[in-house]
Amino acid sequence: MAELTPMMRQYLEIKERHPDCILFFRLGDFYEMFADDAKLASHELDLTLTTRDRGKEKSEQVPMCGVPYHSAESYIARLVARGYKVAICEQMEDPALAKGLVKRDITRIVTPGTVIESSMLDESRNNYFACVFGEGGRYGLSFCDISTGAFYATQAEGAEAMERVISELGRFAPAEVLRGGDAAKSEELTRTLQERLSCCADLGAVELFAPQETAQLVEKQFGRPLDELGLTERPEVWRSAGALLRTLCELQKTGLSHVRELEFYVSGRFMELDLSARRNLELTETMRAGEKRGSLLWVLDHTKTAMGSRMLRSWLEKPLLSPKRINARLDAVEELTKNSIGRDELVHMLQDVSDYERVTARIVTGAANCRDLVSLGNGCEPLPELRAAIGGLHASLFGVLLDELDDLSDLRDEIRNAIVDEPPFSVREGGMIRDGYSEELDQLRDIVSGGKGTLARIEAEEREKTGIKTLRVGYNRVFGYYIEVSKGQTAQVPETYIRKQTLTTGERYITPELKELERTILTAKDRITALEYELFSQVRQHLADQSARIQRTARAVAALDVLTNFAALAARQNYCRPEIDLSGELHITDGRHPVVEQVLKDALFVPNDTALDCGANRVAILTGPNMAGKSTYMRQVALIVLMAQMGCFVPARTARIGVVDRIFTRIGASDDLASGQSTFMVEMTEVAEILKHATSHSLLILDEIGRGTSTFDGMAIARAVLEYAADKKRIGAKTLFATHYHELTDIEQEIEGVRNYNIAVRKRGADIVFLRKIVPGAADDSYGVEVARLAGLPDKVVSRARELLRALESGAPVRTVRVAADDQISITSMENDALRRKLESLAIETMTPIEAMNALFELKKML
Ligand code: ADP
Repeated sequence: MAELTPMMRQYLEIKERHPDCILFFRLGDFYEMFADDAKLASHELDLTLTTRDRGKEKSEQVPMCGVPYHSAESYIARLVARGYKVAICEQMEDPALAKGLVKRDITRIVTPGTVIESSMLDESRNNYFACVFGEGGRYGLSFCDISTGAFYATQAEGAEAMERVISELGRFAPAEVLRGGDAAKSEELTRTLQERLSCCADLGAVELFAPQETAQLVEKQFGRPLDELGLTERPEVWRSAGALLRTLCELQKTGLSHVRELEFYVSGRFMELDLSARRNLELTETMRAGEKRGSLLWVLDHTKTAMGSRMLRSWLEKPLLSPKRINARLDAVEELTKNSIGRDELVHMLQDVSDYERVTARIVTGAANCRDLVSLGNGCEPLPELRAAIGGLHASLFGVLLDELDDLSDLRDEIRNAIVDEPPFSVREGGMIRDGYSEELDQLRDIVSGGKGTLARIEAEEREKTGIKTLRVGYNRVFGYYIEVSKGQTAQVPETYIRKQTLTTGERYITPELKELERTILTAKDRITALEYELFSQVRQHLADQSARIQRTARAVAALDVLTNFAALAARQNYCRPEIDLSGELHITDGRHPVVEQVLKDALFVPNDTALDCGANRVAILTGPNMAGKSTYMRQVALIVLMAQMGCFVPARTARIGVVDRIFTRIGASDDLASGQSTFMVEMTEVAEILKHATSHSLLILDEIGRGTSTFDGMAIARAVLEYAADKKRIGAKTLFATHYHELTDIEQEIEGVRNYNIAVRKRGADIVFLRKIVPGAADDSYGVEVARLAGLPDKVVSRARELLRALESGAPVRTVRVAADDQISITSMENDALRRKLESLAIETMTPIEAMNALFELKKML
């Protein structure tokens, strides 16, 4: 080290403290990266790699690359989005005033879970940092979104603890996860984080989870003792929460005072949905493309504010179980569906509301600039009107929202009075504070502008005095103010002028009077910038002190946005209010699939009924050809239940929904290639999970169980699974079971509670028509060959399949046909078919010779 330049030594000392981060090292107007960081960043960000002298010897050079400080945010965003951590190292003193090497230190570490800049965040979703700590088979989980201040905690214990840990992580889908204790050792968890959640995962040091320190941290942060937080008996929860708080503080380096409430919840408050169910039901993104378009969220989310959009997503992640709480939401939605004028007004007002929640987080952490404050001020504008509008509504939830929603008019006025309408981006260069806000500032500004007036006066006086018409007063950074006289007239210059610079065109001078004025103007200017920053910081601090009010209001606005959105959706899509109870029954008339009905272009969606209960109609076996609509129907039932438990109206004519505790799905044969397991293995693992955890209050959606193995094996497994799920003594859950195996329809006679249904199709000649209607009874045929024909299999294959099928059905031995070489079934037979059809369609008798020539030409092109 002794050989290094002082700056490089400083760099390496800081880098040593954060070896896992890419260090952005501030040097003047740039953030520079060195050595391996530079190589990596230049590659990831397409930056030019240069070198810098590392040591005192010229030959020692180190790779370097850099980004300008004012555009660093976008570079940091790109690195963080790729899972890197970025440590920001700033100059801690003004380089102009520093003696020797400028002091530098880390001011913040940006990681995927600690981002607060709006440009790096998806405004429609929360960005959670999670922490899991385990000891003695018990796990504590904490989740914090520092961009909004939300903090949740829960626990998992017993035989299914790890499954619950994984399912809660799936619910929150955190950007980053910290693990400690047993949670750090679990291979299952490691695998899930890597393969299924693909989030940034860290292991915490043992000290981070120390019981006493974590307890103190939690109590201090939330201002209440552990017993009031409901955590006394749950050390694993407070240890995870404390470790998370400490980690966030260390990364953020500023306060977390906007993280104000810890919401502890136990299992049983929300409907449980594991990772596969979330994926299979395509709640927030589609399975194939991973896009929002085509998901349930895509249909549901027409909220007007970013906060509403995030809250809707969290309602979707956490459907409720209590009929009382669900009905409170439904009452509010219903009132708004009936009051279309009020609803439209609300929509209109909500449009102008800004993202208070995230602005507040930036205000509290000191990252907010003046533009953030102005957007907060403007965003408060509709609040008094919103309050008045809610005041006129009757549902009890609106009463709660009215209590929480503050019109924040004092804050709005404060921002208005202090800050100009269009402030600059930088907070260090002045131009932010409105005239009339501070007497001192106004005086300083007068001095500067007065000074400018004085300059003009001096110029005029000097012209007069010297008779030099072209004499001019100017300014540059090197000499400050000067008087410039062009070449031909320098002889007329009085003696009092002091020459400073000779130009090709003339000379520049200063005078004592000019110097004095310059000093006044420049000191005033410096003082103005400093004072403006001071005043801005005061306003920001005052707003930070009021952040609890702003956050509460933000949450009320978000809920109002979601409710209004649900009401508008219900009116637009013709949804009905579900009746919610604890009967365990599902009665839906004319139910529709909320997403499929939107994407069907030409065809109309055919509605279907559902009747499931805990007794005679517990299990529905669905048969019918491929493509008939079995999967669509089963998902539709699951989605209607889920929407109802979110407090949303549902796509049906009527619906009575007995609350379900969990929805399980086993759909399709998605091959989990990443984990190297076979399709069948994955399928069976999922079925095993379902049978282990389902209760009589659950809803099971099982599609084509046993498809991944041989017919007899598959059928045997499917039957055994169905018997187990249907058996009241074992599970007795409401089950929708689609199958290819027609033999299974016999179970209706054998097990009480099982009913056969099929999706009707009509045969028309060799074709079939899908009617999409669910009817009682088993399907009489699988129509596999007909569906294959519809899909465009070559005619030869279709007719051969028919022949084989007839033989199989009659029990006759199947004869292998020898295919003549010139009659081979291959891709070309499709072309031949097209050719034949074209030939057959030609009406040769009526064609002119030219038309015949053209037709021949066309035919040749088809070869
Ligand atoms: P299956 O599971 O029986 O193979 P799907 O549920 O995948 O069939 O349905 C096939 C297609 O049929 C869907 O993509 C959809 O376009 C259409 N479909 C399904 N149900 C309906 C319905 N009730 N009304 C109109 N079209 C439907």
